Amino acid sequence: NENAAGRKPEAGDGKREEDQADSASAAETSLLMKIIRKGLVESKQDLEIQRKDPNSPLYSVKTFEALHLKPELLKGVYAMGFNAPSKIQETALPTLLADPPQNMIAQSQSGTGKTAAFVLAMLSRVDPKKDYPQVLCLSPTYELAIQTGEVAARMAQFCPEIKLKYAVRGEEVGREKLTDHIIIGTPGKVMDWGIKYKVFDLKKIRVFVLDEADVMIATQGHHDQCIRIHKQLSKSCQMMFFSATYDKEVMDFAQYIVPNPIIIKLRREQESLDNIKQYYVRCKDQDEKYKAIQNIYGGITVGQAIIFCHTRKTATWLSGKMSQDGHSVAVLSGELTVEQRLLVLDRFRDGLEKVLITTNVLSRGIDVEQVTIVVNFDLPMDGHGRADCETYLHRIGRTGRFGKNGIAINLVDSDKSMNICKAIEKHFKKKIELLDADNSDEIE
Ligand code: ADP
Repeated sequence: NENAAGRKPEAGDGKREEDQADSASAAETSLLMKIIRKGLVESKQDLEIQRKDPNSPLYSVKTFEALHLKPELLKGVYAMGFNAPSKIQETALPTLLADPPQNMIAQSQSGTGKTAAFVLAMLSRVDPKKDYPQVLCLSPTYELAIQTGEVAARMAQFCPEIKLKYAVRGEEVGREKLTDHIIIGTPGKVMDWGIKYKVFDLKKIRVFVLDEADVMIATQGHHDQCIRIHKQLSKSCQMMFFSATYDKEVMDFAQYIVPNPIIIKLRREQESLDNIKQYYVRCKDQDEKYKAIQNIYGGITVGQAIIFCHTRKTATWLSGKMSQDGHSVAVLSGELTVEQRLLVLDRFRDGLEKVLITTNVLSRGIDVEQVTIVVNFDLPMDGHGRADCETYLHRIGRTGRFGKNGIAINLVDSDKSMNICKAIEKHFKKKIELLDADNSDEIE
């Protein structure tokens, strides 16, 4: 089973896997976010634009009609339920479709419409009368390539003449040259086909897309493979580079791959702790933590709860206890495959389980609106045992969209966790109040 998204984290130091802090790879997280997302992530942030000549304004559109797409493509866009371009699409699309072609680096968080934008650009640039690959899109993993391909297939549903080929594991080619117009694949397979077997000509690629570039460079070996593929492309090939993050490493890579780009950035919508009541409960040990949960959970009748544990072992233990006490509990942890995780999340979203116990596999992106209470069974800490404030914010905080009131409860069972709690309080400059867990009436 080499399903990348279901791959188990490596256990080191002879420690049992379930005792280790659970974390997901960048590619796994990205895939899961894509699949569970039901629509666009709206942003109130302004788009930042950098270009060579800052005096020439960038043209932007408010409608898809204004892009003068092929009618079949426009039909495809509407069939997907898109009424108007997203914030990033307003500016990216006219540039991506312009003649002469312009290079672009676009950064915005997951869910803001990047994939739809570059897929539309890819499809628009295809000349179906030429029977060779003209568009190449690199994705970091098999699963992410398939996701992108599925968007392309839906958008091109009224353009049956456009042919798409996946260059991913399991796909094979013969000696004949490929006649498909678009190739979407992972770097290793694309290198094999383009450089080793030469079943298509990289020089004839008109549009090159590097998707999820941040995930790409976080994946061993992909960085160099991308560069080797990139070297074979013609000077006139249009380069598009997409990333959800803004680190220097990603930017350096971008600048290397994409000459003279127009750079557009949409800052991440910040989660905030406004409207969140934060508490901590003093406990002696794990059993007392459990008692605290019983009290708290018994006191709250509406809504659902998410409980975060540091390790799988604790999550399993806790879910066993709670199930025994008659709670309907779901567990989301690192050993589940993507399909299993989706199942768990869908059931929770539908309210079939009232409690979701999870390790760190998904601190960001559980936008379940009906969740009223988040419990840190273990406080988030980094590899050095220090307070991990960023993770805390992702677990507890809400963005504007989900700006409802919420309650966060931190279970503190040692001086160390008390110190973490204090550090978090100090960092966010927001009081975390002591809660007497025997008296959950105090919770408002
Ligand atoms: P990203 O690549 O930035 O993660 P996607 O292109 O995958 O974002 O878009 C996120 C979600 O929003 C998808 O479900 C997609 O179908 C939807 N979406 C994209 N563009 C639009 C639009 N203009 N109108 C409505 N929904 C859109």
